[in-house]
Amino acid sequence: MRPEIKEYNIDWMIWSIIKTAGRTTRGSDREFYAMLEYVPYFKGILVPIVREGEAGKQFLELVGEYMGNIVNAHDDGKKLAMTTFCFSPVILYAMDIIPVTLEAISTLGALMWRRGTFDYLDYCCEVGFTETSCSAQRGSLGAYLAGLGEDIDMIVCDSAGVCDTNANSFAFTSAYLDKPFYQLNYPPELVTDRTTSYHREDYYGLIAFLEEQSGNKIDEGRLRYVLTELKKQDEILTDIEEMQSLVPNPMPILYNLFIYAGRFFFAGMENYTRMLETMRDTVSANAAEKKSGLRSGKENLRSLFCYIDHFAVNLSLWDWLDEHGITQVGNILSKYYNADAPYLEGNREAGYTINTENLDSMIDTMAQMNARMPMVLSIRGPYDAPYMWFESSLVLAKVFSADCVVYNGTPGCRNTWGMIKPFARDMEKAGLPTYIMYGDAFDERVESWDATEERLEEFFRVRELL
Ligand code: SF4
Repeated sequence: MRPEIKEYNIDWMIWSIIKTAGRTTRGSDREFYAMLEYVPYFKGILVPIVREGEAGKQFLELVGEYMGNIVNAHDDGKKLAMTTFCFSPVILYAMDIIPVTLEAISTLGALMWRRGTFDYLDYCCEVGFTETSCSAQRGSLGAYLAGLGEDIDMIVCDSAGVCDTNANSFAFTSAYLDKPFYQLNYPPELVTDRTTSYHREDYYGLIAFLEEQSGNKIDEGRLRYVLTELKKQDEILTDIEEMQSLVPNPMPILYNLFIYAGRFFFAGMENYTRMLETMRDTVSANAAEKKSGLRSGKENLRSLFCYIDHFAVNLSLWDWLDEHGITQVGNILSKYYNADAPYLEGNREAGYTINTENLDSMIDTMAQMNARMPMVLSIRGPYDAPYMWFESSLVLAKVFSADCVVYNGTPGCRNTWGMIKPFARDMEKAGLPTYIMYGDAFDERVESWDATEERLEEFFRVRELL
């Protein structure tokens, strides 16, 4: 790792940048745009976020608060749990433990550093990872393995049975850093009694582990409070998603990122509810005027990203889509699978229901919710089995009237690479032109954004979609 990279901790560095970025939005528009001359490096990410108005400001605050919580956790007497984006932080907040979500931190680095997170990605390989392991964890994990982050207290993950590379990252880290580790597991089916009871038992084990490691007993009142807040969030998301199915889609395209990043950071916390309320107001106002959420105001095409987005570097993907009049009706990260979600109509058993009646019902709720996190829900079994990736993507494409489907992931994602070709073939058979991107969502060295952009252009031109 280059010596200059070792000067600062990753979490502290991101926190400092985001805190400063948040302050730039406090002045007038004129002051903000005049200031940009002094931050050329961060202009590409700051401008599109701030252009989203109040929601953009709230998003910056949210990220700042999240990173600040990590940096200050030990001074505040709290424990840090390293975790993954397919693990809901609700239980951690309910037990006063601070989540350190690797993929979310990797995303922040990939989005805002032109130098990328290359040193951290590569450091993981220096200490034993294969370079084809998922870059989503490695982009920040390298820093923690090198001692360039807050000292974490425990590790919790939930991807065994779903993603080998994700699960191995956390198991490796536990051994390498000598940290206590708990891993939820996932049977290959989603909706069976056996699966439900497996999830429940596994989740009770998780709670016992968290109690032991944090010294905090689970508190029924606190848990109810967090789940009640989550319920509000799900209701707002349902409203927003119902409006997303309108043509034109009234939702600004960047809200996709705000929705899932906010949920990974603060599911069940009030600050995320406030941001969602602001977003719902904007989407409702656009819907009332039958206005597209795109900046151009003209929706040419509707795309469903069947997997994840592209984060390296700046907000290039969303800028590109917006410039071409292509709205994004969501991706695997932005859909949350509450049983009331518009895409679960006629299929409610595939979703979770929030039941705050007693401690057992709340633990059941969380076990079921965690079992419906991105990837955990739909990549646990064969791509074409009931409720799995193909079926759930096809339903999303229909409900949101998508004209095409785009896959983007990481080369390390063996689970999806193993099935993307037949998945794309079946999508095409269903009448949906499907494009497979070959870049890495977090590592621009695999394919430069220029090349990615050119290939996207080619797909839409050759398929005569634009
Ligand atoms: S399923 Fe793919 S993107 Fe998700 S953690 Fe695994 S390798 Fe990474």
